[in-house]
Amino acid sequence: MSDCIFCKIVEGAIPSSKVFENENVLAFRDIAPAAPVHILIIPKRHLSTMNDAGPEDAALLGELLLTAQKLAAQEGIAESGYRLINNCNSDGGQTAYHLHVHLLGGRPLGALVE
Ligand code: 5GP
Repeated sequence: MSDCIFCKIVEGAIPSSKVFENENVLAFRDIAPAAPVHILIIPKRHLSTMNDAGPEDAALLGELLLTAQKLAAQEGIAESGYRLINNCNSDGGQTAYHLHVHLLGGRPLGALVE
């Protein structure tokens, strides 16, 4: 998707602080971190929102979560704890329309919703 900022990050047209990459998945640090650890885990293939994933994406969705788990350990927050978030569409607070999972940790995160 030519106008998708995360596709541009995948393509390398926009720089990012990458922490993991394989053929399916890219993970990079959020540009406006909400916690000491704030990493975005995305599929390289464009899916706009969680609503666009289907049964054929089951392995990919699992890979996003297992990547987050691995990165939590790598970042040293597996034992203290962390939060994984997917914001979907406007009421969910989504602002970047390329499916992503937030990995947040490094401090107590408080209440789940406002
Ligand atoms: P959303 O609100 O869609 O769940 O999350 C989008 C996230 O992407 C936000 O936390 C925002 O800070 C982050 N973000 C937006 N543009 C960029 C960018 O160009 N680079 C990086 N690394 N993060 C971005």
